[in-house]
Amino acid sequence: MPEGRNEFQLIRQIQRSTLVASPGVKLGIGDDAAVLDVPVGQHLVAATDTLNAGVHFPADTLPFDIGYKCLAVNLSDLAAMGAVPHRVLLSLSLPEADPDWVQSFTAGFMSLAEPFGVALVGGDTTSGPLSVSLTALGTVEPGRQLQRNGACAGDLLVVSGTVGGAARVLDLLQAAIDPGACSQPDRSLLDRPHPRVKLGQALTGYASACIDISDGLLADLGHLVTASGCAARLAIDTLPAASLLADLKAEQKLAYQLAGGDDYELLFTLPEQYASQINGWSGELGVDLTIIGNIEDGDGIHCMRADGTEYHARATGFDHFAAKPQGNT
Ligand code: ADP
Ligand code: MG
Repeated sequence: MPEGRNEFQLIRQIQRSTLVASPGVKLGIGDDAAVLDVPVGQHLVAATDTLNAGVHFPADTLPFDIGYKCLAVNLSDLAAMGAVPHRVLLSLSLPEADPDWVQSFTAGFMSLAEPFGVALVGGDTTSGPLSVSLTALGTVEPGRQLQRNGACAGDLLVVSGTVGGAARVLDLLQAAIDPGACSQPDRSLLDRPHPRVKLGQALTGYASACIDISDGLLADLGHLVTASGCAARLAIDTLPAASLLADLKAEQKLAYQLAGGDDYELLFTLPEQYASQINGWSGELGVDLTIIGNIEDGDGIHCMRADGTEYHARATGFDHFAAKPQGNT
């Protein structure tokens, strides 16, 4: 590696800055592999997600925020399964061995790892274009995991938080590159998503299906209805909007809500008999929950206006191999 530190000094720095007491970790960073206790009677839940500079985050994103977000998106996958997160492995590809970058990155990572009690137990460090890949391990009681394929006709469709905000931040950032453009927007909706870990756990035993919204509401709802073999009726006038969308015309706002990615909210289906739980979860967890439609027999997604007419959306969401990548490069 160029100036700064070598690979092993960087690994030691990462190890020192992420050290937490974690009794179930028999062997963490430092050997060829980690050795971990798996709680008796639990199932292991594993997820991995990669963030590439210029694709999953703008190239000028602060290292603190990259450290935060790489963990947040993986915890969001575990949340969508109703799992409790425990350990993560981190694969880092860095253009240079810059200790300041690593210090800021691990600080961002720990700002989320600590409150969730997640321990970094291993990984890999290489030289190359900036890319961060995380593998998250969690547990769930056997048979209690939330899946995409359990939705049934009659279930309510519910979403946490708001949708469309992260995509709007990204567009505002790109517009701000133009000379004479408005000032930089508040980036937190894009850089600091809140993984709905506690909500996912609360939903086990109640929700019939669940997915996290990473590629856009329509795209991810599409995955859920396809896996479940049913259709969704989406009441588009009920969609919760990020306040950042308030200045937009109705049609533009709707486009962000339906197709904007990177929100990392949970989208779940709930048998109607549990509808009365929604307010309780929302109050206890401090997360807005909005009923945005229902599941019915058939296939596909029907976007319905309040007047009963159907709305045909143009874009459905982000696909790495079909669309221009997001980000600055
Ligand atoms: P090996 O060559 O046997 O794969 P490495 O030299 O890549 O081992 O890694 C040494 C130790 O440091 C391993 O325990 C590995 O899990 C850990 N490690 C390497 N990179 C990271 C990282 N980015 N984050 C956390 N642990 C890491
Ligand atoms: Mg290695």
